[in-house]
Amino acid sequence: MGGSFNPIHNGHLVAAQEAHCKFNLERIIFVPAYHNPYKTGEKYERELASTFHRFTMIELATSSNPDFYVSSFEIDRQTPSYALDTLKHFHEEFGEGTSLYFITGTDAVMTMPHWQGVEEFHKYCEVIAVTRPSYIPQYEEFLGKVAHLGLKVYFVTIPALEISSSDVRDRVRRGMPIRYLTPTSVAIYIEKHGLYQEQE
Ligand code: ATP
Ligand code: MG
Repeated sequence: MGGSFNPIHNGHLVAAQEAHCKFNLERIIFVPAYHNPYKTGEKYERELASTFHRFTMIELATSSNPDFYVSSFEIDRQTPSYALDTLKHFHEEFGEGTSLYFITGTDAVMTMPHWQGVEEFHKYCEVIAVTRPSYIPQYEEFLGKVAHLGLKVYFVTIPALEISSSDVRDRVRRGMPIRYLTPTSVAIYIEKHGLYQEQE
């Protein structure tokens, strides 16, 4: 499961848990992006916590789940992250006998036809698109756009959690509580390190 995880929140965790259960997956690997090439702008840069903090928050959030892992593959490379490179990496690491599923939100999946190297994805993975409550996907339009890619995409509805990292950051800035939106350990970590407090 890829993302900025700036910070990780319960929406990510519920989505991962749902995919884990519905597809009978052995493990979920959270892969924080070093830098998302599709997210740009001064505000994004300013608000992006360090790779160290984002990685650590995922460790804290997943420490009680033996099936949830974090990979530093993308952040270690220190270059913009393209999913195809990451897929190739895991394909090599786990070998032919392992099926990989690329888990991501439906909002992100909709932009997939424009991703670099997407025409090769079908060699390495199938896609699990988890729905977000605020986003109503245009399935027909999307399936039309990806039909030629030979890629299997499954849509999974998850229990609705209207949470986003943007909202968590915004709440921190406004002094609003984030406990129960993100694990307590993460909420405490954010406070302890003064993350996301910068004023506009
Ligand atoms: P931001 O608000 O900064 O964009 P985000 O909450 O969307 O952050 P990302 O790190 O961008 O978090 O998310 C990684 C993936 O998890 C994305 O594909 C996103 O669609 C999905 N996701 C995020 N929040 C939820 C949620 N509440 N329910 C389901 N999927 C989610
Ligand atoms: Mg997002």
